[in-house]
Formats: sequence, C-alpha cells, structure tokens
Amino acid sequence: MIEFKDVSLIYPNRVEALKNIDLTIEKGEFVVIVGMSGAGKSTLMKCINRMVVPTGGEVIVDNQIVSQLKESKLRQLRTQIGIIFQDYNLVKRMSVLRNVMVGRLGHTSTFNSLISRFPQEDLQLAMKNLKRIGIDEKAYVRSDQLSGGQQQRVSIARVLTQQPKIILADEPVASLDPPTSHQVMRDLKRVSKEDGLTTIVNLHFIDLAMEYADRIIGMREGEIVFDGPIAEVTEKT
Ligand code: ADP
Ligand code: ADP
Repeated sequence: MIEFKDVSLIYPNRVEALKNIDLTIEKGEFVVIVGMSGAGKSTLMKCINRMVVPTGGEVIVDNQIVSQLKESKLRQLRTQIGIIFQDYNLVKRMSVLRNVMVGRLGHTSTFNSLISRFPQEDLQLAMKNLKRIGIDEKAYVRSDQLSGGQQQRVSIARVLTQQPKIILADEPVASLDPPTSHQVMRDLKRVSKEDGLTTIVNLHFIDLAMEYADRIIGMREGEIVFDGPIAEVTEKT
C-alpha cells in the first residue's frame, strides 16, 4: 500500500529530516512510528500525501509514484488519506455532527452543503460513525464544549466518514492524559481493523506503541533504527 524507496529529504535550512528510508507497509497494517521530537516522523508522514516532497528517492502509494501525480490524481489520493492531528483540528463553533460531515468534503458534499443542508446519506454515515466511536449523544453539541479526548474521538469519526484507505495520525494522543490516550488508541485500532484500513500513528512514547501496534518502526535523526513486530522490541530492551 505504501512504499518508500531510498527516500531522503533535506529541508531548505539543510536539516536532513530523512536519510535513505526504505520501507514497505502492507494494506491493513496498524503501524506505530516511535521516536523523539525531531526524529523525522512527521516528515515521513507528510511524504505520503505530498505535503512535502522528498529530495531523493520515491514514495509509492496505492501503486502510484506520489511525486509524479498530476493535480487531479493528487486530489484523488488525498481523498483516500485521512489525517488525525495532535490538536484535533475541529471547527470550534460548529456542532460535532457538522464537524464529522467535514469528512465528506471532496466526496459528495460541497462546502455549501456543509454550512446549510447536506445529503441524507452523508448525514446517516456521519451518525453511524459517531455511534461506532460511542459519542453520538454529543452530535448536536458544539465541538468546543467537549473534552480533549472526546474531541479526538470526534476527529476519528470525521476521518472514518471520509472513507479513506489510509489513516495518518500525527501524535494523536500527545495532548491527552494516559487513560484517555489508551481509549483513543483503542478506538483508532478497532475501527482501523473493522474497515481494513492501513494506519500509521506517530507517537513519542513506546509504551502505547507496545500495546497497540502490529509493528513498530523506531526513528532517530532521520533514520529507521528499528522495524519489526512487538516481540522483537521486547527482546532488544
Ligand atoms: P518529528 O515528527 O519526529 O518530531 P519532524 O519530521 O517534525 O520530526 O522533524 C525532523 C527534523 O526536520 C527536525 O530537525 C525539524 O526541526 C526539521 N523540520 C521539520 N519541518 C521542517 C521545515 N518545514 N523546515 C525546516 N526544517 C524542518
Ligand atoms: P510537528 O508537530 O509537525 O512535528 P512542530 O510542532 O515542531 O512540528 O512544528 C510545527 C510546524 O513547523 C510544522 O509544520 C513543521 O513542519 C514546521 N517546522 C518544524 N521545525 C521547523 C524548522 N526547523 N524550520 C521550519 N519549520 C519547521
């Protein structure tokens, strides 16, 4: 589903954020990338939807060379990739339900339908996904009335409503306390598996990775220093 072939990325300030990365992620894997701040996790993720372009090598997503995609194909690819952010990125003054409807932008809904009316089937999909995350009773509450954990779960419902093939979650629990972090990771893993999605999560703590990842990739200073199933991490530490 995702392949990095000898990918390097040097930012204009000469920081080498990625150094000769080779990596294959199969469809349906739930992968956690672990590493300290500045290790290159976020940059690696940004290569997948071309938020940044490598200075060397190739990134291949769903059999397409990402750097060679024309605008319309790139837009299609981005519709297939759902993103979860550290700070949730909800529209504060909008209801939870309308925030989840944002997942339909790029599909059937237009921005217009988002602020006034939207197709009935999109509405039903959004409600279904709020239910799956156990937060449907908050559908008509303003999103900024929710706790951090609830807001992150709304953002998971939004990403599901986008119906992507891939989910990229960049430090999704970095602003949450430990019990809430576990709940968010548990929900994210469960729905990823239910929908057969390929999911990559960046974390800076190994303990959460150990509990939820199918596979852990360790990064340090732009390089992959570990890649394997959990059993091997335990052997090495
Ligand atoms: P992580 O997600 O592991 O914290 P990043 O990918 O954000 O790591 O950063 C990797 C390195 O690249 C760091 O040294 C960071 O300061 C640098 N970096 C990240 N984004 C940029 C940018 N837009 N311009 C210049 N340097 C950047
Ligand atoms: P992230 O949370 O994406 O790992 P930060 O919070 O460190 O990154 O930085 C916020 C934004 O600034 C990101 O878009 C990142 O790419 C960019 N950035 C990070 N480090 C640098 C840098 N050294 N120079 C320029 N931009 C940077």
